[in-house]
Amino acid sequence: MYTAKAYSAASKTSPLAPAKINRRDTTDRDVQIEILFCGICHSDLHQVRDEFSSLMPTVYPIVPGHEIVGRVTKVGPAVTKFKPGDLVGIGCMVDSDLTCPECRAGLEQFCPNMTLTFNSPDKHLGGTTYGGYSDSIVVDERFVLRVPANLNLAGVAPLLCAGITTYSPIHRWGDIKGKKVGIVGLGGLGHMGVKFAHGLGSHVVVFTTSPDKKEDALRLGADETVVSRNANEMQKHAGSFDFILDTVSAAHDINAYLAMLRRDANLTLVGAPQEPFAVNGLGLLFGRRNISGSLIGGIRETQEMLDFCGTHNITADVEVIPIQKVNEAYERLLRSDVKYRFSIDMASLKSESALARLETME
Ligand code: NAP
Ligand code: ZN
Repeated sequence: MYTAKAYSAASKTSPLAPAKINRRDTTDRDVQIEILFCGICHSDLHQVRDEFSSLMPTVYPIVPGHEIVGRVTKVGPAVTKFKPGDLVGIGCMVDSDLTCPECRAGLEQFCPNMTLTFNSPDKHLGGTTYGGYSDSIVVDERFVLRVPANLNLAGVAPLLCAGITTYSPIHRWGDIKGKKVGIVGLGGLGHMGVKFAHGLGSHVVVFTTSPDKKEDALRLGADETVVSRNANEMQKHAGSFDFILDTVSAAHDINAYLAMLRRDANLTLVGAPQEPFAVNGLGLLFGRRNISGSLIGGIRETQEMLDFCGTHNITADVEVIPIQKVNEAYERLLRSDVKYRFSIDMASLKSESALARLETME
């Protein structure tokens, strides 16, 4: 066991603050990684504030972060895929049983024994797993991804969650070339959804509550933008979509979007507001419409997504911040004020001011 530096929250009302945490020594199949960048996902904020309590209550202290990019520093004796110096990524999962039907289908995210990168029971050290707002992490090589060498690392980190969470449902839905695809919410997930749907040749329409994001939406690959608070703009698209991906993090009316689907078309939810949705059943019946959900993606598909991004030179648009600005970043996330993902430069955790604060904590 060794000590790593991290940022953690002590309760749902506490800010994130410097902390020291334990990490395990590498066992046979483990890879030790120096974390270079970690994206800030809205799920980090939801869990720091215990907003997923109905499904998975937060255990404190919590160290969030599941959009991790780093460099391998050490490997266990049985590791075959990685060596020190390799650039790698870690997403939302660090373990699963690898034997159940879900794992065998490459869908580890649905394994009943899956371990999340943070806030899951830690079967090695006891307590809970700690995530990527830290300078290092140790992960079983089967949950470590290869990062294409040609991509900007700060922009790669968000691919590990925002990237796969949008790539997976867009691909599963089928051939969307030439189809009309809606992306609801232009945040971390939404802007990746626009890039992928545009890259696959769809006619992309972005629904946003932020009129000032209209120009960016077009630059990112949208063909049209709609300000969702404008009823006239919304009305124009009734019954016209083949697929809608809803990435919104807060309560909103999804009936307005269900009404925009063609017959048999699908609205997939990836956003995870705390409050339940009120769905108008008749809106589904008329048009035989579908509503479904999607959760990240399996390890094999995440690697496929990273390789696709390497080939097509796709990364997230990021605002790089030092970790000392993480609490401010959370407040901005709540105001939809991020273009379009915060990526924490973990070198800042080594900086003198952070160190000084760490020492006063001890
Ligand atoms: P984000 O960067 O904060 O983006 C969310 C966007 O939703 C905002 O930028 C905003 O876009 C829109 N929005 C916010 N409040 C709204 C409101 N009251 N009404 C309508 N629109 C609103 O968040 P994110 O990191 O992309 O995550 C989005 C959601 O997905 C979160 O709930 C997160 O927990 C969830 N998530 C799910 C998975 C999964 O596997 N399913 C994975 C990762 C994250 P505009 O300014 O354009 O309106
Ligand atoms: Zn996430």
